[in-house]
Amino acid sequence: MRLPAWMQRRRFATGLAITGFSLVTLAMTKAAEQHNWIGTADPDKEPEEQPAPAPAPPAPCPAPATPDPLLGPRTKEPGSWVGLSPVQSNLPIVVMAGHADSQGTASPGTPGYAVDQQNLPPMQPGIRDELFWNREVQAAVVSKGKARGLNIRSYTPPSISIANDTDPATNWSKAKVFSERGEYVLEIHFDAYRPHGFGSGLIPVLKNIRELNVVDESLAQAFGRFPRNFRGGLGGPRRGIGILEIAMLEPPLETKLRDPRTRQHTVNCLAERVVNALVQGIS
Ligand SMILES: [Zn+2]
Repeated sequence: MRLPAWMQRRRFATGLAITGFSLVTLAMTKAAEQHNWIGTADPDKEPEEQPAPAPAPPAPCPAPATPDPLLGPRTKEPGSWVGLSPVQSNLPIVVMAGHADSQGTASPGTPGYAVDQQNLPPMQPGIRDELFWNREVQAAVVSKGKARGLNIRSYTPPSISIANDTDPATNWSKAKVFSERGEYVLEIHFDAYRPHGFGSGLIPVLKNIRELNVVDESLAQAFGRFPRNFRGGLGGPRRGIGILEIAMLEPPLETKLRDPRTRQHTVNCLAERVVNALVQGIS
């Protein structure tokens, strides 16, 4: 049967409309696919169905500079020694936390600016904040140092308060033994806040212990160098301990350490400075 002309036109128009509608739908679907492919959230999905955003890569550590954005000022009283003695590539390195056995004694370490000047609670009741941060950096240095292939370990005394300096388990007694058998002993410290503190730097071992070596030199270049006979020769350097004053325990570094959101990253960056210096000194 032949349809009247007006009916034929209408069929043709309807066909065109359907085809047009399909094309538009196809285009919309394609657009939606592309939309998803570039990673934008699909508005049709419930929020919990959306793929989790990729975690942001950790911010890089601040590069060494003067003034230093991470450490703050180097020691205001610098030394002029140079460490030249070579070391073996598998030099045993022992990392200690300063004041780890002297809580409640005459030398417990600095309370830090936050506790002393801002009346904030200590990081851990019963110990000075310096010991808390010394331990954090000690642990990170040993773990990162091992990952970089260093022959490195920590020593931790059995008690936080050993009254007798000559007790065989103190940092001092152990350091004397380790140092005499050729091991490199590094004790992590934070200096007091300004105006009491000096700034960052290495207080190296005394002359009677050994010649200063390339690891001492590398740490001094990274952190600064105190005079060899600083304060007439401290207890640690007399017994073979190199004291590394990481930085003064004051803002902005102390604030970044205390903030749980920036704590681990800041500790890692401090440890990275130490480990980079150790690796450079040895190689
Ligand atoms: Zn200290």
